[in-house]
Amino acid sequence: MTFDIVTIFPAMIESALGEGIVSRAIGAKTLTVTVRDLREFTTDRHRVVDDVPYGGGPGMVLKPEPIFRALDAIEAERGSPLTVILTSPQGKPFTQADARRLSGVDHVVLLCGRYEGFDERVRQRATEELSIGDYVLTGGELPALVILDAVARFVPGVVGDEQSVADDSFSRGLLDFPQYTRPAEIGDLHVPDVLLSGNHAAIRRWRKKEALSRTLDRRPDLLADASLDDEEQAILKELRDERN
Ligand code: SAH
Repeated sequence: MTFDIVTIFPAMIESALGEGIVSRAIGAKTLTVTVRDLREFTTDRHRVVDDVPYGGGPGMVLKPEPIFRALDAIEAERGSPLTVILTSPQGKPFTQADARRLSGVDHVVLLCGRYEGFDERVRQRATEELSIGDYVLTGGELPALVILDAVARFVPGVVGDEQSVADDSFSRGLLDFPQYTRPAEIGDLHVPDVLLSGNHAAIRRWRKKEALSRTLDRRPDLLADASLDDEEQAILKELRDERN
């Protein structure tokens, strides 16, 4: 899968992509990420990417032409139609379902805003607008990295164990169950006995119950869309009865 990231701070993206699982996937060519410096698509001597807002008021706005030129260049190189994601606090909230969906796209372009954001006309060239949460950041680089990271985890070969991605929080509409590793005891903190029992059926049921119980306590809103098997439905009913 290929990503193009358009930004005025390429180093910010490159440093984040230099470590960890995503870095390994780039090394293995499972992922291709090209960072495009927006200033390369300016035509003036000072490489200006922003300008004052029409109508007045504080702050600066990202000019449309450099972004259009960057998209034209990417399109010429990769072919169209492009999936172009505009990062914006006004976008649709980005979810695990979006991450999975986008992992099926061959090529995604991420546009990182700065200042007061993009000239409104840039929206004409975007195929979607995504927000990573209800807060405002100083730029779209962190959102682009967040989106890339979450999408990359669904690309086959990026995360070693694909079952772990399927089990993760949100993948089935549930939060993940608690995890423990050695040692079995630290002071008076014990690993639950069932996990040491070697009884796989009991462990599986315990994990289902913990995942359901956490989701019920912390994020009951998720349960409305969760896909539960018969055993999970029965456990959920038990948990609800216990709580009433
Ligand atoms: N004035 C704009 C905010 C601009 S913030 C508004 O109120 O809508 C500058 C840039 O940071 C945005 O263009 C976007 O690229 C990025 N950004 C900030 N918060 C974000 C969020 N929650 N999700 C995605 N992108 C965000």
